[in-house]
Amino acid sequence: MAQSVYEELIRRFIEAKIPSPRLEARLLIAAAAGTDADNISSDTVLSDDAKKRLEKMAEERLKHKPLDKIIGHKAFYKYDFIVNENVLSPRPDTEILVMAAADIIHKHNVRSVLDMGTGSGCILLSLLKDFPDLHGTGIDISDTALQTARSNLKKLNLNLRQADFFQTDWFNDHILSVHGAPFDLIVSNPPYIPGDEINSLDTEVKDFDPKLALDGGSDGLKSYRRIAEISPFLLSSKGFILLECGAGQAQDIIPIFTLNGFEHIKTLPDLAGIERCIIFRKKDCI
Ligand code: GLN
Repeated sequence: MAQSVYEELIRRFIEAKIPSPRLEARLLIAAAAGTDADNISSDTVLSDDAKKRLEKMAEERLKHKPLDKIIGHKAFYKYDFIVNENVLSPRPDTEILVMAAADIIHKHNVRSVLDMGTGSGCILLSLLKDFPDLHGTGIDISDTALQTARSNLKKLNLNLRQADFFQTDWFNDHILSVHGAPFDLIVSNPPYIPGDEINSLDTEVKDFDPKLALDGGSDGLKSYRRIAEISPFLLSSKGFILLECGAGQAQDIIPIFTLNGFEHIKTLPDLAGIERCIIFRKKDCI
């Protein structure tokens, strides 16, 4: 009976210390049944095929594969994004950056945005969806990540002309001539985990998020130094840059940018009160 399937799954999730066992059980049953979680109740009856799908997904979850990477999508900000092994799973903390960027776009008549390390495209596409007249460019070193971002562009029913995606490595000087520059706004959630800390992260992150999306070099700040060096050439006069950072990194990142001709506007905390999003503005003189 479906009820016993549901309860049995909750019991196994509690035993394996899966966070939010009830919610996750409902979401997995919904995915196996091909319906929305809202439609799942204790009387939901699963077909034999759905039960088999559920068992396979439950076993993956018990091995700590993240739920979104099993069901293939994740809610972020106001929208739902395709996710897979090629992209970083969108995090609720990153929604802070999207909200701050939306506020700047609204107040400063921003027309173009560059997302450096777009991954699933969750930041860029959320902004394009909110602002139909905004043009967006997403770059990433990973071609498979860009394929996911393009799939998300279609999933969100955006006009294909609203965005361009380019595969490029920002440590290469080709980045300076990326099509569409200069941009009014740059957003980025770059890799920021110090290389030797990656192995101590949770299994869900270290085994299932791409290393490329996590590894910020020996002190975690390698990408910020490069972004500070190149962004004066990629931004319009008085353009803004919004960056996500790791816990305790903001105070080291701020001088990197102020020494490269940026004014620090403010730093915003995430949902846990950790400094997570830094806002800079390019000074007039450069
Ligand atoms: N921009 C994507 C995100 O914020 C990917 C970031 C990354 O891969 N470091 O989720």
